[in-house]
Amino acid sequence: MITPTLTAIHHTRTTIDITLSKSFYQGLSDVFYLLNAQHELVKLAILSQVEHSDVFAYVVQCPKLDLQQDYWIYDAHMLRTPLEWGRVVRDADFDHEYAYLGTDLGATYTPSHTTFVVWAPTASSVNLIIAPSTPHQRVVMMEKGERGTYRLQLAGDYDGVAYRYAIRRHGIWTEANDPYALSSLPNHLASVVISLQRLPALPEVTLPEFKHPTDAVLYELHVRDFSMDPYAPFQHRGKYAAFREDVKSPKGTSLGLDYIASLGITHVQLLPIYDYGSVDELHPEVAYNWGYDPMQFGIPEGSYALDPLDPYSRIIDTRDMIVAIHQKGLRMVMDVVYNHMFDAPTSDFEKLVPYYYFRYGEHGEVSNGSFCGNDLDSTRAMTRKYFLDMIRRWVTLYRIDGMRFDLMGIIDDETMRQIDHMCRQLVPNFIIYGEGWNMPTFLPDGRKTTQQNAARVPHIGFFSDKFRELIKGSTWDTEIAQRGYATGAAVDMTAVKDVLTGSCTGKYGAPTYVAPTQTINYVECHDNMTLADKIAVSNASETEEQRMKRQRLVTALVILAQGVPFLHAGQEWLRTKHGAHNTFRSSDLVNRLDWKRMEQHLAVVDYIRDVIRIRRQLPELRLHTTERLQKDVTFKDLPQNGLAMTIRTPDHPHYEALVLIVNPSPKVLLHNLEDYHLVLLNEAGAPRVELHAKNLMVNPISLILLAEPRLQR
Ligand code: CA
Repeated sequence: MITPTLTAIHHTRTTIDITLSKSFYQGLSDVFYLLNAQHELVKLAILSQVEHSDVFAYVVQCPKLDLQQDYWIYDAHMLRTPLEWGRVVRDADFDHEYAYLGTDLGATYTPSHTTFVVWAPTASSVNLIIAPSTPHQRVVMMEKGERGTYRLQLAGDYDGVAYRYAIRRHGIWTEANDPYALSSLPNHLASVVISLQRLPALPEVTLPEFKHPTDAVLYELHVRDFSMDPYAPFQHRGKYAAFREDVKSPKGTSLGLDYIASLGITHVQLLPIYDYGSVDELHPEVAYNWGYDPMQFGIPEGSYALDPLDPYSRIIDTRDMIVAIHQKGLRMVMDVVYNHMFDAPTSDFEKLVPYYYFRYGEHGEVSNGSFCGNDLDSTRAMTRKYFLDMIRRWVTLYRIDGMRFDLMGIIDDETMRQIDHMCRQLVPNFIIYGEGWNMPTFLPDGRKTTQQNAARVPHIGFFSDKFRELIKGSTWDTEIAQRGYATGAAVDMTAVKDVLTGSCTGKYGAPTYVAPTQTINYVECHDNMTLADKIAVSNASETEEQRMKRQRLVTALVILAQGVPFLHAGQEWLRTKHGAHNTFRSSDLVNRLDWKRMEQHLAVVDYIRDVIRIRRQLPELRLHTTERLQKDVTFKDLPQNGLAMTIRTPDHPHYEALVLIVNPSPKVLLHNLEDYHLVLLNEAGAPRVELHAKNLMVNPISLILLAEPRLQR
């Protein structure tokens, strides 16, 4: 790349940064001029001048500029360069002056005319390109509207017509899709005008009652993994449409959504279904990806659509999939990535308003807390508005029931509170949770939506890495052999009590969360090794039978701990990725759900189904207030790292208390109760006949759940 001889960038409202190459008059200029579109020339005072190896860097003073005009900078020797708009859009006053809060951004269709509105406050002009890159291409100039918007109303029927925006800034044209578009051509080629009236009406589905996040049983799933196994006779493999199929295995076992519903799951959490960049939508068979690389936040991913060439297909298929999920009595949680984008420089945001949407450090360094090359800046008025607008679209147009935020710690807490407030206004039992890791993004720690700041977002949940690491043992590849409480390590029992009570009571150390509704208990998700693969390493010295028991015990503890249980699809049948840690772009062979394996491990599946059913039957296993946990839950240490957890059940008609006895050791644990208790769950699952016990023999690597009968008064 050839370094330009003269560059001029407007970084603050009162200054311009100029560099002048030493190859031209030794880089020296004792004066600079600004020329505006009206050919008025203004002399700029030099504030500072610093010599570098190749250039002189100047900072010059400038008057307040109209950001929607083109300007030129001249040096003392008649050399000129267009003035570029730099970080001036990050100036404290910028949002005050330009943030546009209207509700008409995007293309609004009616049969007689379509209105286009785009926010481009640093563009000197914007054109609408109709049917770009086709013989029918037409370019129409847009008009300047209020607060940095450009708008245009076109008479005629533009349903299904492709469009892009051409933006002119400092003499250069760039093209972008419309971030507010409802659909697009395959692979983000152009935006498409959509008539919402043309979408088929959705049936009204009455969902089962759902009150508190702790009533949820979450199940994480990838759209494509769901239906790619040739053993399962899906017609529409890898597509949204597979969720509408009632499929049975050759042995007659129900697969697909029927199977998931039969487990007692309440919410299916789908890995990204917004438009992402890493899979060719016209040839999805050649690449697999989880999809954590957003391209268009408000448009469904096209590779899962039956016909990616039809801009309506991805919308209709996604809506139908969510209806199908609802019709099975399940709710749908969408995994969203409002922390970074596929590629910042080529993103529509950067093309529309450079420097505005992404986060920068004090000296213009690009923030990269996501470790994906960029961070979106949720604190900017129009970024925050965009998040809210797109989320409103997913809630109202697609009827999602919850959201899982990827790297939520990169988003500021005020934005998350506004999102949470809006969603619960729209859907009262909407659930939001996310990864509250403290990432090194350029945002003060006190403003990040991290676990450390859980009290600032009391309605939002967090993945509990504390539970994960303590119960299972380390997740990280370098220490995968390390065991946890349920995989047989001697650990701090106080910490075990803390995580079994949702890490919110403050009785076993400082509380991490304010309520159990914030605690997402999990040991396996799409990231890192599956539980079965981890146990195969960490418990290699044990027998296969013992490892199988570990899988059951660890998973049962996820479900029986206070908080919100989260399972990774297939965890209940020992899902394996053959030891791989990060399969974000591995083949279907590694990632797809192996439905045959489910049939091979039906005993574990049936056990997990029993555990979930018992949790859902007994409200005391899913308390939603910290006060109840503080008041009604007590522990007793038992030999062999065993533990008895007692939950008083004052509201239960027949039980005085529930008693959970955990034996993580490879030996039988003997424990005598004062009276006979009813066995609700033992190693084999829920007993089919009424079973009472007093002097317990808890089998190795297992747990027992009992109910203490209330004495007749
Ligand atoms: Ca895509």
